[in-house]
Amino acid sequence: MSSHCVAYGCGKTAENDVTLFRFPKDPEEFHKWEKQVQRTRSNWFASPNCHLCSDHFGKDYFESISPFGVPKLKPGAVPTVFVLIFYKLKSQCLFFNITMLPFL
Ligand SMILES: [Zn+2]
Repeated sequence: MSSHCVAYGCGKTAENDVTLFRFPKDPEEFHKWEKQVQRTRSNWFASPNCHLCSDHFGKDYFESISPFGVPKLKPGAVPTVFVLIFYKLKSQCLFFNITMLPFL
């Protein structure tokens, strides 16, 4: 079974040219990631097999890597880039906006 990104509105897999990162083993880090995802997905709970893709991490969170290397996250990296959905009630139109959710 291939893993996919759990971020709301994303769901990317390795085939989408992203790197998937498994939720951290450290309980404190794990909770930080879960909390960030919950900001756009209420009533969702992470499991240790959940993944987030590289789209949700700012450039500063990656180790500097060779152009051919697999991107690696720095210790303590927290996902901050999420898609928020805004509803325009009058026109009934729905649009997506990539946004930064700073870690609180
Ligand atoms: Zn993603």
